[in-house]
Amino acid sequence: MALCRICKEKKIITKADVYLKHYRLPLCKKHFKEWFLKRLKGTIEKFDMFKESVAVGVSGGMDSMTLWQALTELGYKVYGIHINLGIPGASEKAYEKVSKFAEEKGLDLHVVNLKDEVGATLPEIVKLRKRPACAVCGQIKRALLNKYAKRFNVEAVATGHHLDDEAATLLANILTWNLPLLKRKHPVLPSRDGFVKKVKPLVRFTKADIKAWVDLEGIDYVKGECPLSTGASLKKWTALLEEIEKAFPQTKFKFLFQYWEIIQPIFREHLEIPEDEFKIVPCKYCGEPAVIYNEDEEPICTICKLRELVNQSLEVSSN
Ligand SMILES: [Zn+2]
Ligand SMILES: [Zn+2]
Repeated sequence: MALCRICKEKKIITKADVYLKHYRLPLCKKHFKEWFLKRLKGTIEKFDMFKESVAVGVSGGMDSMTLWQALTELGYKVYGIHINLGIPGASEKAYEKVSKFAEEKGLDLHVVNLKDEVGATLPEIVKLRKRPACAVCGQIKRALLNKYAKRFNVEAVATGHHLDDEAATLLANILTWNLPLLKRKHPVLPSRDGFVKKVKPLVRFTKADIKAWVDLEGIDYVKGECPLSTGASLKKWTALLEEIEKAFPQTKFKFLFQYWEIIQPIFREHLEIPEDEFKIVPCKYCGEPAVIYNEDEEPICTICKLRELVNQSLEVSSN
């Protein structure tokens, strides 16, 4: 392997531990870490994401584990929130990896059990809701992360979305002209009606950069797909974008960042998007944000609605 570029500049000869293909940059472990943390801090400051405290939703996958550790090493007050969804086999394994990692690296971990929150596990809820598992799961995670982030009084909730994810969804949104999403999609979603600010600090890292972090740190993360996964479309967009990137290197970075810098401000100024058809009001039971579509509808949040649904099904089955 090549020599570390930064060591070489300092006239020191060190074998590179990683080659960052996207930047044609060979680095030793020490300088890779410095590069990664500096880039991460730069992103947080550039987009004014948070100053001191943040919550990270930690699933056990490589993106969230990396984010959790790197933010902690940068000196932020980081609350790792792991939601145990109760998926047989998968959830126990994820919890094990997350808690072992927290112990090894001295990270702050809070575990939220879905069963304690609503009285049922994700597979049980999916059966009751009769909706795709990924949609239900996404809704639950957003709601619970928001609830606990507020309890910890953090400035923002961070998720592990990286450059490849964001560029792929942008490609999908442009090719299908999803205008509301194009207008809204950004590394920072400001707080609104009881929703905490949401941020994506890894947007300037490719999946390969993150893979280099977990490999060099020796992180044991959850590999493979969620056993309930139904959503394959993002994967197809990601594969298409990879093909474009192969033919025209550096495209995905320019595509995403020039969208934010040049195109989105124009969209935001000139694109008329119909007003939201819904309102966000406090849940009548717990005060968390609830979405209502008309004034007569009772304001009940995602989690309280699921709890009601689970209780009703228990009543039915006991009668
Ligand atoms: Zn070096
Ligand atoms: Zn509620």
